[in-house]
Amino acid sequence: MTLEQRISEAAQRLREATVQYAPAAFSSSFGAEDMVVHDLIARESLAVEIFTLDTGRLHDETLALVHRARLHYGIPVRVLYPDAADLDAFVTRHGPNAFYDSVALRKQCCGLRKLEPLSRALAGKGLWITGLRRSQSVTREELDVLSHDAARGLAKLNPIVDWTAEDVQAYLRRFDVPVNPLHARGFPSIGCAPCTRAVAPHEHERAGRWWWEQPESRECGLHVNSEGRLVRAAEATTVREAT
Ligand code: SF4
Repeated sequence: MTLEQRISEAAQRLREATVQYAPAAFSSSFGAEDMVVHDLIARESLAVEIFTLDTGRLHDETLALVHRARLHYGIPVRVLYPDAADLDAFVTRHGPNAFYDSVALRKQCCGLRKLEPLSRALAGKGLWITGLRRSQSVTREELDVLSHDAARGLAKLNPIVDWTAEDVQAYLRRFDVPVNPLHARGFPSIGCAPCTRAVAPHEHERAGRWWWEQPESRECGLHVNSEGRLVRAAEATTVREAT
């Protein structure tokens, strides 16, 4: 499939789903894939609320990109922060870097800094748009284009789920999309600063995320179901293929 066809298909998925399942929200970490979706939403002038989760542990480069994207596209970005009292209690009890101590504490940290704010952002929404791709990791290889997120009671659209990393880079170059400078320093996937490292050329693109854990646990929980498992195509109730 050519890049033109990929773009046309993704734009159609976005147009159709944002009408059918309005109101729509797009969760962006301002990584490369999310900047493709951000650019598509702007290019198509879609009625989508763009939001990001400021965990308090992001790189300065990521925060700078949030600001740069606001100026570039002229579209507001809603920024959500963790609940201050809950975070105070967690850090007081377990320390500021508890995520290195165990998978359980790492998931608690992601829960406080990401999942709870995500729930607030998605409250009342009918569609959740993401920039997930299947080839990003073993935990994402069975994701569908469109599914029903039963836990949150909304439709979930992954409009570039079938794109390759090369498709993403070609799109970013073609439309001169603003990107995080950390990508050029060996960070293909960018999360919180203490939980992300640069990867070597031969390593998988998400090898730098929670690198001290086994690959199967390396998700922050944003995209898992109510039983704590990643929502896979076979498990999800397919709402409708948007293509
Ligand atoms: S990625 Fe790390 S610092 Fe960020 S919320 Fe998860 S455990 Fe906490």
